[in-house]
Parts: sequence; structure tokens; C-alpha cells
Amino acid sequence: MNKIFLSFLSILIISWSCSQPADNQSVSEETTTQSEFALAIHGGAGTIKRENMSEEQEAEYRAKLKEALDAGYTVLESGGEALDAVIAAVKVMEDSPLFNAGKGAVFTNEGKNEMDAAIMDGRDRNAGAVAGLTTVKNPITAARAVMENSPHVFMTGAGAEQFAVEQDLELVSPDYFFTDFRFQQLEKIRETEKTQLDHSSLLELELQDPFFKDRKFGTVGAVALDKNGNIAAATSTGGMTNKRYGRVGDVPIIGAGTYADNATCAVSATGHGEFFIRTVVGHEIASQMRYGNKSLKDAANDVVMKQLVEMGGSGGIISIDRMGNIAMPFNSEGMYRGYRKADQEAQVFIYKDQN
Ligand code: ASP
Repeated sequence: MNKIFLSFLSILIISWSCSQPADNQSVSEETTTQSEFALAIHGGAGTIKRENMSEEQEAEYRAKLKEALDAGYTVLESGGEALDAVIAAVKVMEDSPLFNAGKGAVFTNEGKNEMDAAIMDGRDRNAGAVAGLTTVKNPITAARAVMENSPHVFMTGAGAEQFAVEQDLELVSPDYFFTDFRFQQLEKIRETEKTQLDHSSLLELELQDPFFKDRKFGTVGAVALDKNGNIAAATSTGGMTNKRYGRVGDVPIIGAGTYADNATCAVSATGHGEFFIRTVVGHEIASQMRYGNKSLKDAANDVVMKQLVEMGGSGGIISIDRMGNIAMPFNSEGMYRGYRKADQEAQVFIYKDQN
């Protein structure tokens, strides 16, 4: 009798402890308080150092990041969906020439602007992605249209553009995406390549050359938790300066640069896409939470600060879970980033030192 009672008691204890949530207390030193709703954004990672920025430049970035956070926050505060919040935040950054997405997209080797974007809904893991767009003003809206109005997840090139036309999305001439600053970046790389490509592979060149080391990954992204407890992620990019024909980075690869699942977290990445694809960054973080029972902070740190570093992949991520915990690790010098939680002011950071 005693034995039966004891085993019944131990079953009760085991099932109670399994039903406890994983440690969600200290997900990031920046965001230890849990929240009813929240969002985080990034505007790219890279060699972003205080000494290389003028006061005006810095102020411009901070103001635009804050504007993007506020746009998403307004949606969430009024009870809107995480999906709408991430779109609102990303659109603000796509419309700014400061970031490598939409208006400020970088140039391909052929001197064009080809954009990729993706969105994912944590409720049901529905997702939409586009690659190689040249005329859609806000590529993130095309990703959403693929998710909501087509039976597909991923559309590329001419087909994706055709779909955008049919969906009545706002189109612009490819000239809209021309910015002098980005074109000069391409010229500079072309020049370096001409003198060095005979001697080294493109990857060696990237690792050695000071210009490449200084590269900034200006991709934009947002993750959000809404009042209904749903999370979503969105990412948009021009890719990497001088990318070759047909190159697609991590951003529109669901599970790599963009991922969301209510059961774990929402992730949006920025960095050297090839490495992020090979690490399957977003899905890897979610899997460590799901199968390893790790907190968001520990999972995100393992992937960004360990796995990517070992491989040589520079960049970072923003992420959120259903408790409103936020982790934003990056292994580069800086990352344009910020977050805003319910009833709090927007927090914006650029450099490593939480500033
Ligand atoms: N991850 C992007 C890509 O490889 C680049 C970036 O983050 O700026 O396409």
C-alpha cells in the first residue's frame, strides 16, 4: 500500500516539475522584466564604431530606429497583431536610405538593387518570403502577400514581381533604389577586387581586406509579441554589396534569417548570410529552447556568440519569446537595435557598450 502511495506521489511530483516553464527570468541584461506586449528591431550589424560616426549620423540613426519602434508599438498598444506591428516597424526602415533594405538597398555586382524579405507568424508557423525583387517599394509587403494570398511560401525574381503586380502592391522604378552612398560602396569593392582577385578567392579577400572587415550589414528586422500572446518576425534586405547573379542570403530562408513559433521564439537576423544559412540560425535557437529546454538568452547566445563565431560568421539577431523576454546578441562591433515594452519608453542602442 505504502509503495503504491509513494509511486503515485513521485508521478505527481515529476509531472508538476515538467509543467513548469523554462527559466525566463534573465533572458537579456537589457530586458529582464516580462511584458504584456513588446517589440524589438534591428537595422543591421557590423563594424559600427563610435569613432567612425558623426554626431549627426548617430542622431539620424537613433531617431529612425525610435520612429520604427514607435510605429510597431502603436499597433501593439491598440490591440493589433504582432504581424502588423513587425510590418509597421520594418516599413519605416525600408523607406529610409539609412538601412540596407528598400530605399537604401545595396548594389549587386551588376549594379542593380535586388531585395529579399520574409515574414513568419508564430501562431501557426505560416510564412512568406520573396527574393530578387527590383521594383516593389516595400519588399516586406510582398512577403506578407505570398504568405496570405498564395498557396506558396517562397517566390523569387520575375515570378515574385508578377505576383506583386497582381496583388496591387506599390511599385516603383528601379531608379528609386539608387543612392550615391551605396553605389560608391560597390565601386570601392569592384576596385579592390580588380587588384586582388587574381591572388585570392573571394572569401579570402573578404576576410583580409580592411574594406570588407568594415562592412556593415544594414538589413532591417522586427520581432513582436502582441496582447493575445502571439509572436511574429519580419526581415528585409538588399543582401550584400557586390553579390553575384542569383545570390540569395539568409533573410528569406525560413529558419535561417527569419523564424517564428509561439512555442519558442521569434527571430530576425543580420550578418554574413552564407554563415547564417549554414547555421540555420533562427531554427537552431528555437530548437535549443524546444528540445534543450534552454532560455531564450542562453539559446541565442550559444548560436550567435559560439556557433557563428567558430565558423567565422559575423552579425547578430533580435529575438522575443511569449513572455516578452528579449535577447539581442551580436558578435560584431555594433548593431543598430532597440526595443520597446508595454508602458515603457523606447530603448535604442548602437554600440557594444549598451549605448
Ligand atoms: N544577412 C544579409 C544577407 O546576407 C545581409 C545583412 O544582414 O545586411 O543577405
